[in-house]
Amino acid sequence: MSNFKSPLDIYKILNKSNCRQCRVATCMAFAALVFKGEKTLDSCPHIDRDLLEQFGGETVGRSTPEQNEEEVLRQLKSEITAVDFPAAAERLGARLVGDKLAIKCLGKNFFVDGEGNIDSECHVNAWLKIPLLSYIASGKGGGLRNNWIKFAQLEEGMAWNPFFLKRCEEPLKRIADADERLFFDIIQVFGGTKLNEGSSADWSLIIYPLPRVPFLIRYWNPEEDFESDLKLFFDESTEFNLNVEAIYLLGRGIVEMFKSIMLRHSRTGQLKINID
Ligand code: SF4
Repeated sequence: MSNFKSPLDIYKILNKSNCRQCRVATCMAFAALVFKGEKTLDSCPHIDRDLLEQFGGETVGRSTPEQNEEEVLRQLKSEITAVDFPAAAERLGARLVGDKLAIKCLGKNFFVDGEGNIDSECHVNAWLKIPLLSYIASGKGGGLRNNWIKFAQLEEGMAWNPFFLKRCEEPLKRIADADERLFFDIIQVFGGTKLNEGSSADWSLIIYPLPRVPFLIRYWNPEEDFESDLKLFFDESTEFNLNVEAIYLLGRGIVEMFKSIMLRHSRTGQLKINID
């Protein structure tokens, strides 16, 4: 799995500043924890992405939720059996329908029973299962704070930020760039609402992949010497309701979903979107 024969091999690729941004006192201690599998290399924000990939990237010391999907789902389903659904409905911005919890995801209803089985009037995408069950099992509720922060500023966001940028934010920008008007029309069909916030962005829209986990999409059109840009923001309260791995998975799912809808509804039928 890893190219490292000892903690020293890991230490050699760190910047040795002991800055503690990985929440470990020294680079040497961090290297030892990575070697033992207790920390992941990507928790150090100073390692560039090429190096991360060269040295095993996301597989160093951690498997992603996608790689572990069956096991994670089994665990979540067992946690769901202990959840008090009437209390959860109120906490999570959901409703009780019979003995199921009805939760709106991007404007569509999803129904979850007491054993964690999901059904819906529309297709249940694989990417939604883990975040939806995590939300029910661990969401603490509470209102939004309306203070928007970047993924890296979430308490646990730094460790996942390289993957989030590469697999969520950058591909979503390329999808929007392919046909910006169509992209934002589709976002609005899925419940996206405009935010009047005095930002310099040409588009600011909020979508709700889960009722208490909104994503704010800001997009800047290209201008003279500047490329377009797209950034995703999260309410400061987000981690009360969903952990960063599940937020990352939601982001991945949204990318896949909007890409396939864009291709289906392309006005010219000639749309090309490369997100790989
Ligand atoms: S964040 Fe990186 S550079 Fe800073 S102490 Fe941790 S390992 Fe060292």
